[in-house]
Amino acid sequence: MTLVNIVWSLSIWACLCLATLHLVIWFQQTNQFAYLLFSVITASVAAIAICELVLMSAQTPQEYGRVMWWAHIPIFCLVVSTVGFVRFYFNAGRWWLGVTASGLRLLDLIMNFFATPNLDYKEITSLRHLTIFGGETISVAKGVENPWIKVSELSSLFLLVFVADASVTLWRRGNPGERRRAVVVGGAVIFFILTAAGFSALIEAGRIKAPYLISLPFLAIVVAMGYELSSDVVRAARLARQLRASEAASRESEERFRILADTAPVMVWMSGTDMLCSFFNKPWLVFTGRTMEQELGNGWAEGIHRDDVKRCLETYIGSFNARQSFTMEYRLRRADGDYRWVLDTGVPRYLPAGEFAGYIGSVLDITERRLAEERFRLVVEAAPNAMIIVDTEGKISLINPQVESVFGYSQEELVGQPVEMLIPNSFRSEHPNYRQGYFAEPQVRTMGVGREVFGRRKDGREVPIEIGLSPLHTSAGLFALASILDITERRRNELESARQRNDLAHLSRVALLGELSVSLAHELNQPLTAILSNAEAAELLLAQDAADAGDELPQILREIVSESKRAGEVIRRLRVLLKKGDIRRVPLDMNELVQNVFKLIRSDLINQHIAVQLELAPHLPLVDGDEVQLQQVLINLVINACDAMAEVAANGRRLLVSTDFAGESKVRVSVTDEGYGIPPEKIEHIFDPFFTTKEIGTGLGLAVCRSIISAHSGELTAINNPQCGATFQFTVPASEKDTE
Ligand code: ADP
Repeated sequence: MTLVNIVWSLSIWACLCLATLHLVIWFQQTNQFAYLLFSVITASVAAIAICELVLMSAQTPQEYGRVMWWAHIPIFCLVVSTVGFVRFYFNAGRWWLGVTASGLRLLDLIMNFFATPNLDYKEITSLRHLTIFGGETISVAKGVENPWIKVSELSSLFLLVFVADASVTLWRRGNPGERRRAVVVGGAVIFFILTAAGFSALIEAGRIKAPYLISLPFLAIVVAMGYELSSDVVRAARLARQLRASEAASRESEERFRILADTAPVMVWMSGTDMLCSFFNKPWLVFTGRTMEQELGNGWAEGIHRDDVKRCLETYIGSFNARQSFTMEYRLRRADGDYRWVLDTGVPRYLPAGEFAGYIGSVLDITERRLAEERFRLVVEAAPNAMIIVDTEGKISLINPQVESVFGYSQEELVGQPVEMLIPNSFRSEHPNYRQGYFAEPQVRTMGVGREVFGRRKDGREVPIEIGLSPLHTSAGLFALASILDITERRRNELESARQRNDLAHLSRVALLGELSVSLAHELNQPLTAILSNAEAAELLLAQDAADAGDELPQILREIVSESKRAGEVIRRLRVLLKKGDIRRVPLDMNELVQNVFKLIRSDLINQHIAVQLELAPHLPLVDGDEVQLQQVLINLVINACDAMAEVAANGRRLLVSTDFAGESKVRVSVTDEGYGIPPEKIEHIFDPFFTTKEIGTGLGLAVCRSIISAHSGELTAINNPQCGATFQFTVPASEKDTE
């Protein structure tokens, strides 16, 4: 047995063993084509090694040529299976490169079929016998090279590029296991193909004298591939062990879960990756009165109300396919045959390794809650006010029919929309902050205290509204219930009555002035006429220089004096008349009187943007007085204060009205404004009748007020405030009965 024989025979046996082993492995996992292809590669290398062994001991050129002819078949198998192996094992590489390499190799095989003696040589002229290590001789052909052998070289080149490209792709994926595979397998294939090609080129160039040896480099490739494949087998075995262990652990935890689920106060179900239900806990089975076998799979759907089944299955299947959580409400038949509303919440479940394992769900009987909700909905719908329920995101979730008449939107247009669409543009951007503030501290309260609130209708008009807010804590979360009252009508009435009051006040002032002038003229006419005619008579007498003038003149002068006195008396009487008035005294609560006045003139003050502050002292004694007259005084003082602030910026118009006990059994009312104040030189005169600084003033208001207060035995005074504006105060004695 020579050394060549030993080495080649061992290689052949090793290859055949590997081929058989991997063929067996492939039979067990027929989808793993890498094993089959590796088996073909090793078998091909074995066949090539056999050919080489025979070649080396060939005795005639014919025998040599014939064996070389046969060697093209295993080489073809080797190239094609290497392309397939790299493609399957790397899951990379451009198909067209692999297909070209294989196609050229097929062309080589076909051409070889028709070539004599083979595609390598046109003619083998003789055999040379080389002596190699140990004195052993081997046969080497001598002849004319066939130019068509370039086809086979081109095929090797494409194979090389294909493997290199696939290895680079694999490396780029960055996975450490794949990178190692790219280096070991890809690197080995590239290196040894280059080695074999280089070796053949040297032989062909006559630089070295040796037979063509393909099997040895390919044996190295086979070792590299085999090493990687065996590592895979070892890894797979380890994984299988781990899987078995984790399956045992998960079986145990599943058992624990079942025990837990059976004692849970809710119904629980579980489904697998096939969507079919694989578990129901005891509470579910008790509720439905059915057995586990009846419920498993799709059996549970039989208990769902006919009208809800389709919707339920759609939700379940849709969420399942999207791997999303879901909640659905449906009617489920109870053991006694009654259908109960339930809330079913399902979530996808995953194994510790992150693999999707199906769904798990919990189910609650919500029949009572739904009944309560239904009752609530009926109450909301029947409410006379417009009602809107808004969630924390500001989405409208329920409205009653009254909303349509206030805002002009239908139910379909509003539900699900942001509530901001009902807010006027000027306030819309601020509203989300206001809303968040409300949900942060939800409580019953009125919206927009101290200012006018408006809503925006569908047609763009703004409506004055009053809004009451109440928080609603429900199982679906926190909501706000807004009760909305359209106050357009009320506002219109208020404006109308304010206008009427203004007209009336103006008219009464004009009438008072008219009456006064008429009565003044009438009363003064007589004495003035008498004075005038007496004076004319005296003048005539003096002109005539009459003799009896001396007798008549004193008489005339006396009459003039008496008529003047009469005129003075007229005026005095008029003042007394003004002072006296007719007073109907009744016990009055001054605080109540103040509040009633502000109810009357509220809308005037809003229109003039006046902020009113009332500071009413508690436990004041009652006063005796004429309610209407005292109201008139207060209204007058307030109107004057408003007039004094007309020029002040809207946000600075502040009015303070206070009541207190002034001592000496007197109740005091003060009206303080922040207007222009009273010029110091005029403060003396403001109570004089007909004194006014206003263009259209009568100058009678304060005079009348003072006479009314005097008639009540009280006092009306005015002072300028230290900062700005003026304060008017009047006192009225407390009721004697009350003081006692
Ligand atoms: P009228 O209001 O018609 O002028 P009044 O007798 O009510 O008549 O007022 C007399 C004058 O007193 C006013 O014209 C105004 O100059 C002055 N006056 C009244 N109230 C105030 C006030 N609150 N601040 C400043 N001036 C005032």
